[in-house]
Amino acid sequence: MDLNDSPEQAEYRERVRTWLRDNAADAPRVRGEGMIQDEDERVAAWRTWQRRLVEGGLCGVTWPEEFGGAGKGPIEQVIVNQELAQAGVPGPLDFIGVGMMGPAIIVHGTDEQKRRHLGPLLHGDEVFCQLFSEPAAGSDLAGVTTRAVQQDDGSFRITGQKVWTTNAQFSAYGVLLARTDADVPKHKGLTMFIVPMDAPGVTIRGLRQISGEAEFNEVFLDEVEVGADAVLGQVGAGWTTALTVLMFERLAIGTAPIGYSAERFAAAIADAPGAREDSAVRQEIGRIGTELIASRFNGHRMISELAGGGVPGPEFGLAKVTMVSAAVDAGDLIGDVLGPDALDHDDEWGYMISFLPGLKSAGGTEEILRNTIGERVLGLPPEPRLDKGVPFSELRSRQEA
Ligand SMILES: Cc1cc2nc3c(=O)[nH]c(=O)nc-3n(C[C@H](O)[C@H](O)[C@H](O)COP(=O)(O)OP(=O)(O)OC[C@H]3O[C@@H](n4cnc5c(N)ncnc54)[C@H](O)[C@@H]3O)c2cc1C
Repeated sequence: MDLNDSPEQAEYRERVRTWLRDNAADAPRVRGEGMIQDEDERVAAWRTWQRRLVEGGLCGVTWPEEFGGAGKGPIEQVIVNQELAQAGVPGPLDFIGVGMMGPAIIVHGTDEQKRRHLGPLLHGDEVFCQLFSEPAAGSDLAGVTTRAVQQDDGSFRITGQKVWTTNAQFSAYGVLLARTDADVPKHKGLTMFIVPMDAPGVTIRGLRQISGEAEFNEVFLDEVEVGADAVLGQVGAGWTTALTVLMFERLAIGTAPIGYSAERFAAAIADAPGAREDSAVRQEIGRIGTELIASRFNGHRMISELAGGGVPGPEFGLAKVTMVSAAVDAGDLIGDVLGPDALDHDDEWGYMISFLPGLKSAGGTEEILRNTIGERVLGLPPEPRLDKGVPFSELRSRQEA
């Protein structure tokens, strides 16, 4: 594994840096000090910035050129993420759409879905959200109970509730996992849909977080009608489409520059008045720093594998678990060293300290990822699965009994 840029990568990095030097001054402040406070204004400015990034080849880096992307590999994506973080400017507004939903449409979409959706999605004109989690189906995602019933004319009526839907409040579409057949085992009766968020019967209610923002929502669906052409992938094969989305989610989280922020945190704590004189703080900085370095090397290993044509496997979960827990610890230490002032919401640290713990759950909780690593990387005995092969309708009646 070579940790240095190859001559081509170094040249690419230089091009990205030059573009950022020329354009960074126009980037909107979307977090921390100087943030555009009004959400509509912030979203509009961020949308414009996403368009600029596309023009510069810095958004949709790994998307094929035929769909408007830059046609590069994961290493170039990492380089772009690193340089964006270094320049202190945001990435695209629609991290979820560009990182997960667009790539899933490229894999599973019909020609018409690709033609209709990919351009507006990439340019930020139509934001996409992920309508997967439900109040009783998060870790056990295949347990979703939102149902889609096919009508005689081929259309579907969707009814149910989703939760934790990031960005739903300004999304044009959601990619939604619903149950179309409850009489088969839970993974088999699912179908994925592309749902317009302004369709009659869709209600979006914001959930306010400790950070003060309301990035997530509850989404209620009441007999929402969509055409047969809204199915993404095949009817009954929604789990396959979901796995594709989750694979891209792992990739997007795995290549995100969370660790770089955390390293900046660790450096900032070390510079805080009195921190270096306190042996307990010194030890904690050393411990967190070691974890961050280990997860950075793990990240390099992951990226090398991807560059060699591999797909994001279960070991990607390890990078997420280590990186996020080290970043959370760094945030906690900032709180300990700097005191309550560090929680000021207008401050970048305040935002990160209150937001980071949520990342322990996003994209799979730490416990679930540890289970997966135990079973699929270390080869430990699997968890007991009592629902295997049992029709979903029978599982529900058992739960209700
Ligand atoms: C920042 C953030 C953004 C998100 N964005 C979206 C989004 O845009 N769209 C979307 O659909 N969802 C989103 N989510 C939801 C996320 O996918 C879920 O939170 C996650 O899958 C966990 O589900 P849950 O919250 O229902 O927890 P649960 O599944 O109820 O788990 C509760 C606790 O029990 C533990 N647990 C559960 N099962 C097991 C087991 N078998 N073994 C050991 N421990 C177990 C979990 O680890 C956890 O600690 C987001 C979440 C966060 C925090």
